[in-house]
Amino acid sequence: MSKPLPPAEASWSRRRFLAAGASACVLAAVGPGSASRPPFLELRRAKDLSVVEARFYEKLPNRKIRCKLCPRECVIDDQERGYCGVRENRGGTYYTLVHSRPVSIHVDPIEKKPLFHFLPGTEALSLATVGCNVECKFCQNWQISQVRPEQMEAYEASPALIAELARESGSPTIAYTYTEPVVFAEYMYDCAVEGRKRGIRSVMISNGYIQREAMLELCSVLDAVKIDLKAFTQRFYTELVAGELKPVLDTLKLLVSRRMWTEIVYLMIPTKNDAKQEIREMCRWIVSELGPDVPVHFTRFYPQYRLRNLPPTPLATLRMAREIALEEGIRFAYIGNVPGEEGENTYCPHCHVVLIRRAGYSILENNLRAGRCSKCGEKIPGVWS
Ligand code: SF4
Repeated sequence: MSKPLPPAEASWSRRRFLAAGASACVLAAVGPGSASRPPFLELRRAKDLSVVEARFYEKLPNRKIRCKLCPRECVIDDQERGYCGVRENRGGTYYTLVHSRPVSIHVDPIEKKPLFHFLPGTEALSLATVGCNVECKFCQNWQISQVRPEQMEAYEASPALIAELARESGSPTIAYTYTEPVVFAEYMYDCAVEGRKRGIRSVMISNGYIQREAMLELCSVLDAVKIDLKAFTQRFYTELVAGELKPVLDTLKLLVSRRMWTEIVYLMIPTKNDAKQEIREMCRWIVSELGPDVPVHFTRFYPQYRLRNLPPTPLATLRMAREIALEEGIRFAYIGNVPGEEGENTYCPHCHVVLIRRAGYSILENNLRAGRCSKCGEKIPGVWS
């Protein structure tokens, strides 16, 4: 049932895995213009996998189980793992193997997630375990998302320790990011609970490929969610993601119906998901189903992982998408991964003054006053304090 390992990794020695682990942590932290830094407290390396019972599954005859965490609904025999490779059936009980075992922890600007309408100018203690429930051919962090727990050295970090790390580093937020937090949902939930006890918020950076019940439970402890909407066609999801579009759209509708602060990222991949008509249909769907206030970030693709034969997204394509979004009524459309581009700024949708001027992950100017435009008083949706 587990997805096959990438061929190059299947024969790696343990020593090489550990080396890859170290570099993956760095990779996850130092994108172009990153202001990431490591947290202050020292973390211990884990000596073993964790074995914590999973929360979203049902027992079947003959010690089989059905995982109910994501729409894949893996049916798993005893001693086997699901597609994501981080959850295991042992004798008819299902376990997560990555609870309290992050492989990457950094302090990032919240703008790097990106969340532009959530505590701008602040930092988020950002963490990931290994694992993912899809396999994007353009994954930026495939060294940690497409491996199993045994293949990567992890830290031993309880939810309480994560919350303390956030407090020590002065981060008002914990971000579950880099890989796919759906596959470490139990750990994310427990960290968010510990964070709340200390006044620290939690944000999920996700592909949105999750079942309704699990998402609802997470909504009770999260403060914002960023969803990667990878395309607006099932064909793209089949060919390049190994996932499904409809459950992601359902997750977006659920989040908005629960009044969760939500932003969307759309990575524009040349010739794959950048057709004008597709962008227009997606924007129309967003306005009609989610409303005009959900920010949409059109971000630049760079050749990665198994999609190295395509060029970076032309700036003209990103500008075209942003124009279509504005034409269709989306009030906050951004261009991402192009530092200094004016499409990075937040503009007042009423008087059009620059509200937040950005350069990469830096805030150069903030003209919001108590969540309103300082010039015309327009209320700007978001979480500002
Ligand atoms: S989280 Fe998804 S991919 Fe992983 S075991 Fe459960 S249903 Fe399968």
